[in-house]
Amino acid sequence: MNRNPVLPSLTLSTEPKALRSVDLLVPQTYSGNGFLALDDLPRVALEAASVSVGDGFEWSVQTFFDGLSGGEPRLKMNLTLKGQMHLICQRCMLPCVVHIEESRQFVFLADEALADAFPMEEDALEPLVMSAQFDLLGTIEDEILLSLPLIPKHPEGVCEAASLGSGAKDSMNQGEILKKPDNPFNILKNMKKKE
Ligand SMILES: [Zn+2]
Repeated sequence: MNRNPVLPSLTLSTEPKALRSVDLLVPQTYSGNGFLALDDLPRVALEAASVSVGDGFEWSVQTFFDGLSGGEPRLKMNLTLKGQMHLICQRCMLPCVVHIEESRQFVFLADEALADAFPMEEDALEPLVMSAQFDLLGTIEDEILLSLPLIPKHPEGVCEAASLGSGAKDSMNQGEILKKPDNPFNILKNMKKKE
């Protein structure tokens, strides 16, 4: 049984600025796709070791009302991301390309308290807060940051450990990595893992 009313579907703008403020309180659904260069993603750009032609992320979004659980239909969103960027290889300390291909589903809840209380057991369904100015671009940035490897490396055998002395081995480099202060991106990642 389909309890969903037929709602108008709006095509999302591909303009990064427009993606900063999407009105979710109106009775309509959204779909859209586009490409975001690192210039359009300031928080992701901070992590970039270098920028090459082709770096950036294709995104695709679809929102829909899900009334299957009974009661009030809930607004959900599918987000897929595919793209690449360059991070510092933790073996040779030179830029290495990192590919990302992610698919996530979100559910929108009325306020922060409901989102915080949302049971995480519900398979990979991530809670977000409903808003008339929903920051879709910010959510895309969050998902890219969470998808990046903690210790990016070139494929095995492609590069050698950067070392000043002849005795330096991988284990010493690992020690250096551990000494690095936590950046906000790693903290966010660890927080997510604990949930
Ligand atoms: Zn390397």
